[in-house]
Amino acid sequence: MPHSTPSVHDLHTGAANSPTTALVVGASMAGLSTAAQLTDIGYKVTVVERAPHLRLVGSPIDVRGEALTVADKMGILDTIRQHKVASDERPVFTTFVDFKGQAVAELPVEMANDSVDDIEISREALINVLHSRIGTATDFVYGDWPVSVTEDGAGVAVAFASGRNDRYQIVVGADGIHSSIRKLVFGPESIFRKHLGVYYAIVDLPTGTKNIVNESRTYNCPGGMVGINDYGDRAFGVFAFRAPERDYDYRNTAAQKGLLIEAFDNEQGWHVPFLLDAVSDAEDIYFDSVSQVHMPRWSHGRFVLVGDAAHAASLFSGRGTSLAMMGAAILAEALTESGHEPSAAFERYETRLRPAVQKAQEGVSEARDFMVPETQAGIDQRNLRFPLKSASHLV
Ligand SMILES: Cc1cc2nc3c(=O)[nH]c(=O)nc-3n(C[C@H](O)[C@H](O)[C@H](O)COP(=O)(O)OP(=O)(O)OC[C@H]3O[C@@H](n4cnc5c(N)ncnc54)[C@H](O)[C@@H]3O)c2cc1C
Repeated sequence: MPHSTPSVHDLHTGAANSPTTALVVGASMAGLSTAAQLTDIGYKVTVVERAPHLRLVGSPIDVRGEALTVADKMGILDTIRQHKVASDERPVFTTFVDFKGQAVAELPVEMANDSVDDIEISREALINVLHSRIGTATDFVYGDWPVSVTEDGAGVAVAFASGRNDRYQIVVGADGIHSSIRKLVFGPESIFRKHLGVYYAIVDLPTGTKNIVNESRTYNCPGGMVGINDYGDRAFGVFAFRAPERDYDYRNTAAQKGLLIEAFDNEQGWHVPFLLDAVSDAEDIYFDSVSQVHMPRWSHGRFVLVGDAAHAASLFSGRGTSLAMMGAAILAEALTESGHEPSAAFERYETRLRPAVQKAQEGVSEARDFMVPETQAGIDQRNLRFPLKSASHLV
């Protein structure tokens, strides 16, 4: 619960009664979790988000392992559970279908989950739960982003794209795999981000789509994966395709749609043409390289990175959101334990979180290879490995 200690603030400001200020860059899983945790320990937090509003698009994500304990301590575990999307009885994570929609194989749920306690929740619901948890003490600025950061002895001077200037005692980069704070403080993205050879996209589907599948169906063509996930009240189209790193403006939705449509242009199987139409019609889609971020350090002076900005494990790990929530909690704990001295706190944070990150980053190529096989022979082998046990429908 929120508290503040004058000596904590004196450490940074030399002035009792003035709160320790933090700028959190990015308002997604890592940024919202960090804003909640830092506000709880008495920081005056400003969150700046480049998008004009919270970005809610995306497929359901998993809250698992230690993140469940974090959610419990934050007092949001029950609310998260209430938003659970998949039924506990669901034995199958996804059913693989062929060109005509005939079920041919199925991925058992235990291949995708760590334990029965894992919670699959829509991205939108978790963003809203975290945002509501933060309360009114935190300032949110949308449609703006830092363009320069200058650290001096007492803090960091930040200039924003809007022309606004401000100062903070610490700056937290929670701005995802293309982090601008990482670029400004640590160096170009190309040093740290490793493309895993796959692009991934999500599109919201129109109401009524849920009638064409039951929960999750996945179709593969060589080097490509297309799926529909139906969670009752919402349905999503999911795409992945193998491709080397492409040069495009990753913030340009039209460019993203162009790459996606080009990748599946000649594919007529299953519901692919219908899903490509949904992509063309959508206002917003999520599209990005499936990447990992590897950095020797996640902090420098008064700057620290959390979530994908520091250590993206990729969607094939299924742990990005949980790591972001854990990282935010560990960061707040480390700040408290280190008397709010940034460099000591950031070192503790890194030491504690690294083992979980390493574990999450290992082994993702296996998941990539069975979800997006490169060849027809690869698809056939995968189907033999995960034979149909419970499902057998034409969809
Ligand atoms: C819209 C969206 C949809 C997603 N959908 C999926 C999905 O379907 N499946 C999946 O596995 N993962 C998805 N992800 C990624 C997933 O959220 C993360 O891997 C994980 O939750 C870790 O979150 P994060 O907060 O570290 O990074 P992210 O979730 O990527 O959040 C980064 C945030 O920072 C903001 N931002 C970026 N640059 C700046 C800047 N310069 N200044 C201020 N703000 C900035 C972004 O708009 C975003 O809100 C999605 C991410 C986003 C942003």
